[in-house]
Amino acid sequence: TQAMTRFRELADLCFHLESTQKRTEEIELISGFLKSLQIEEVSPAVLLIIGSVFPEFDPRTLDVGWKTVSKVLKSGGQSTLFRRDLTINQVHRVLSDIASQTGPGSRRMKEQLLEGLLTSADKVESEIIVRIIFGEMRIGVNEGVMLEALAHASGSPLRLVRRALMMRGNIGEVAEIALREGERGLSRIEPSIFIPLKPMLAEMTEDPSTALETQGETAFEYKYDGARIQIHRRRGEVRVFSRRLSDVTESLPDIVELVKCRIGNKDIIVEGEVIAIGKDEKPLPFQDLMRRFTRVKDVEEMVKKIPLHLKLFDVLYLDGEVLIDEPYNIRWMKLSEITPRNLLADRLVTSTPSEADKFMEAALRAGHEGLMAKRLDSHYTPGSRGKAWLKIKPAETLDVVIVAADWGTGRRRGWLSNYHLAVWSGDEYLVIGKTFKGLTDAEFEWMTEKLLSLKQSETEYTVYVEPDLVVEVAFNEIQRSPHYESGFALRFARITRIREDKNPDMADDLEKVRELYERQFRYKAKMSI
Ligand code: AMP
Repeated sequence: TQAMTRFRELADLCFHLESTQKRTEEIELISGFLKSLQIEEVSPAVLLIIGSVFPEFDPRTLDVGWKTVSKVLKSGGQSTLFRRDLTINQVHRVLSDIASQTGPGSRRMKEQLLEGLLTSADKVESEIIVRIIFGEMRIGVNEGVMLEALAHASGSPLRLVRRALMMRGNIGEVAEIALREGERGLSRIEPSIFIPLKPMLAEMTEDPSTALETQGETAFEYKYDGARIQIHRRRGEVRVFSRRLSDVTESLPDIVELVKCRIGNKDIIVEGEVIAIGKDEKPLPFQDLMRRFTRVKDVEEMVKKIPLHLKLFDVLYLDGEVLIDEPYNIRWMKLSEITPRNLLADRLVTSTPSEADKFMEAALRAGHEGLMAKRLDSHYTPGSRGKAWLKIKPAETLDVVIVAADWGTGRRRGWLSNYHLAVWSGDEYLVIGKTFKGLTDAEFEWMTEKLLSLKQSETEYTVYVEPDLVVEVAFNEIQRSPHYESGFALRFARITRIREDKNPDMADDLEKVRELYERQFRYKAKMSI
């Protein structure tokens, strides 16, 4: 039999990848490397290259602090005296062992294991091990690149590799199947009960009418401000998974009971949102909900203190049949046949904008986040964000300062019409977006004159102005932006008012933008469970 591969080769690959700019080159490098491995090395290698030890849904963490690592490094790690060849699987095994140490005395054990590992490692290897420990594998190999490399290495379509990951959630396992059995193996993977699927995601859109314009008749559902869960049941047994695919069954006995007693009697995978409900029947803040999710002790007490409501919105598997490739409206029909009405998401199918707007208002009035707009004929695409599901949250506003404007084209020719919106960072004005939306022709006229009077410099297309004019802009989301120096970008920005009554120093600043950005995640996307 062939010898196991040295970890040094993986470490070299990582450095090599770091110095490579081209995606195609990275893919070739990784693919070549994976093909050179023994089959039982593929899964650990793939996980380590993307900088992790466990698949995404595995709750284990290494839990080693910087202090421990530097202590070990100082106390003679890397002395050539004890060095022996480390294999990829050995490194992976020791890291797993480190993660498995918990409870009293575990600190010491972790330290010892790490010491053993780093003593055997050479300099290049330790560097990579330390980066893996701190999740700092910045070599540009994200999951996307890895999936392409797997497709390349196994000669399978990328679509199949991606699909397999959605079903299994474990990129190591998918890699192993891809390299061992190729396309045929991958296409045999189906969702199965008790293995959570990555949830389908939504894109943001501006308002209900925009959703109707792009989708035609649409199903609108309340977007509940809770936590997403995926429920699996086979015969009597029920398991509940969080959005991050960890098993939260033990913390949610009330949901388990509900499913056992109220949701038909078949084998199922269903999806929904749980909401924590306070005394007045209004949704409780998210922190309280999270306390329910993470609780493992005195669960019963918590069940009484923070009752949960369940709102189901999808079914992915029913009685032996996989439904993800069925259209949404068929899935909804099947779901509503096995689910009592009060456990179903509030929903309205319409093609009339005014009805959709009214439904949005109702959702907000009931204390929820907004609406989801779902295309009636859409398949369930695990793990991917697409236009089949759109999320609609109410617009927020900021007062920003105009620092420049571009000359318009087409209908807006002759006007300064694309405005550069900025906020004060403490030292300077930084742009957070541009918009030409929201103004009437008369206002364009007025703005053009006003901005020309504030002109500081210009290029062929753009007039830079003294930061003086404040406008109120509405937007639906703040994104991180590599594009603007401020680091943020407003999505769907439109001017809602010209604030001549405000000075630039009364406008909102970067701090405020940062705050609003953080608040958006009120835990959801960033949530660790
Ligand atoms: P976001 O986290 O902002 O990307 O919005 C998507 C999330 O909204 C989902 O992951 C669910 O947790 C949540 N959600 C609430 N209500 C629904 C619904 N009716 N359909 C789908 N997702 C919903």
